[in-house]
Amino acid sequence: MIEFNTPFQAVPFDKIKPEHYKPAFEAAIAEAKTKIDKIISAKGKPTFKNTIEALEHSGYGLKRIEEVFFNINSAETNKEIQQIAQDISPVLTAYYNDITLNDSLFAKVKKVYDNRTSLKLDTEQQKLLEDTYKSFVRNGANLSPEAKEEYRKVTEELSMLTLKFEENLLGETNAYQKHITSETDLAGLPDFVKEAAALEAKSRNLTGWVFTLKAPSYQPFMKYADNRKLREEMFRAYNARCFNDNDKDNQEVIRRIVNYRLRLANLLGYKTFADFVLEERMAQNPQKVNGFLQELLDASLPAAKKEYAEVQAYANKLGARFPLERWDWTYYSEKLKNEKFSFTDEMVKPYFKLENVEAGVLGLATRLYGLTFSPDTTIPVYHPDVRAYQVFDADGSFLSLLYLDFFPREGKQGGAWMTNYLDQYKLNGKDNRPHISLVLNFTKPTESKPSLLTYDEVRTFLHEFGHSLHSMLSNCTYQSLAGTNVYRDFVELPSQIMENWAEQKEWLDIVSVHYETGEKMPEELLNNILASRNFNSGYASVRQLSFGINDMAWHTLPDSLTVAVPAFETSAMAATELFPEVSGICLSTGFAHIFSGGYAAGYYGYKWAEVLDADAFSLFKQNGIFDKATAQSFRENILSRGGTEKPIELYKRFRGQEPTIDPLLIRSGLR
Ligand SMILES: [Zn+2]
Repeated sequence: MIEFNTPFQAVPFDKIKPEHYKPAFEAAIAEAKTKIDKIISAKGKPTFKNTIEALEHSGYGLKRIEEVFFNINSAETNKEIQQIAQDISPVLTAYYNDITLNDSLFAKVKKVYDNRTSLKLDTEQQKLLEDTYKSFVRNGANLSPEAKEEYRKVTEELSMLTLKFEENLLGETNAYQKHITSETDLAGLPDFVKEAAALEAKSRNLTGWVFTLKAPSYQPFMKYADNRKLREEMFRAYNARCFNDNDKDNQEVIRRIVNYRLRLANLLGYKTFADFVLEERMAQNPQKVNGFLQELLDASLPAAKKEYAEVQAYANKLGARFPLERWDWTYYSEKLKNEKFSFTDEMVKPYFKLENVEAGVLGLATRLYGLTFSPDTTIPVYHPDVRAYQVFDADGSFLSLLYLDFFPREGKQGGAWMTNYLDQYKLNGKDNRPHISLVLNFTKPTESKPSLLTYDEVRTFLHEFGHSLHSMLSNCTYQSLAGTNVYRDFVELPSQIMENWAEQKEWLDIVSVHYETGEKMPEELLNNILASRNFNSGYASVRQLSFGINDMAWHTLPDSLTVAVPAFETSAMAATELFPEVSGICLSTGFAHIFSGGYAAGYYGYKWAEVLDADAFSLFKQNGIFDKATAQSFRENILSRGGTEKPIELYKRFRGQEPTIDPLLIRSGLR
């Protein structure tokens, strides 16, 4: 196991150089192999301890290196790191295949599994045994020698293709800039957007303003720019990423990914890739997922169509003489929202200074769970923007390290995510606490202003912080079952439930303080934010469902893909389409979640978890949103338990009953 000479064994980012990764991987793989060889050659009867537990522990050293490397590849990458990723991915795939495809090792695992009822294991041990056995089977252990060879080839291809997809997307996102030199083209944009664009231009040694395809630049442009031609240009650039017939085009990558995934599923005896994936999810099978998506689509479409008509009528009133196109939607929606609720980003941002929001988000964990956070500048970080905290439990004991990484950079993927540099686990009587990182892409501070967040960014912060609580409060024995290592359609419950607090006056009131005057947000503005909760919620629901439907279409293919990527996508998403058709754009070529991010046949999980989070939060509403007993029960039954039991069992223990869809429909104003 790796020992770092740092406080808390934190990753020594300041000392790690790209050339260190390969030797570290090689050493960790060699160490793991030695441990596995020992398991295989052990004399006597295979037991839970000498086989299942030993196997679990054999991978911890390598896991550590993988976490450091792949997190850096997402948050602070460069050509050198990307090349190492290309080189190391097939090596890792081969290594993991060597484990699951090893007959003598599988024979031992199977022996323990077959005797499971007589072993007197506790719940977590039983789960580890079951998961280990299933993971062998699901990774080809039962295949014939020829099929095993093909399985190896398919998984190696897939690991390279998904990496390629991500690299292409980052490349295309970074390659685009819209340089504007005439101020008239900025009409409609609030000052904060112009300032950030001027700063972006300056950083590129340009005069004027530069807009990019990164969220804090792209989104406000689409929302506010009066110049319709420019909105269309930006929209097309964003939505044609990796769809430009160049060396970064992802169409062929997608075709190969879906075909290889289908082949993989077929090899393992499943009809489609979704059948294979969903067997290990709360939803269980594609029929259930498709039925679920359809039920929500039926509930959302009438509202979405009404909203579309309303925004169209409002646009006409403002002089629009055209049917709304995709690049018009957020622009006119924002104007209508402003008229109905007098609430714009520019009005609320001064009240959401990043530091205040951060204090409010961390403070929520203090209020609910008694956690405290103390900044620690002795912990090495991988970029000067990153800040490290020590986190303590209510009784003062050390809980975790927490890294906060807020602003966009060239080497950082878009979006927001939470990740671990070390997973929680217990070994030899010691509880090893996790190292957690939140990676976000918030509006950067400008020369004249601190970082001021939009309301959506406040929600994003809460969301990702919710994932980190899941990891932070983990109280498990085995890494592979700890923290967020749960079913994909359950993992968004701890994150999404946190967003509910952004809709509670009592909490918003605490975090919204004017960054200059120190005054609280005016009551009326606060009420307007809350009242606008369900503005265009039908549309938002349909949009989210359309992603899930697109994902399911790709992964329920029963035969190899023969049609072109855009044609397939258009037909898959037809039932969710509200706008006139546009050529030259493609959602899938930029859909990293499902083609490189582990959400394949899993995007529906966001909606699935919304059902859970609305249902779970209704208990907080009933008992009080800061009720300690409810929080304690959520912590004990869900947050601390990781994947040590089936999610539905954990959920029922917290909620006292199965979840129902009603709280979600009511909360969204759809019922
Ligand atoms: Zn999430």
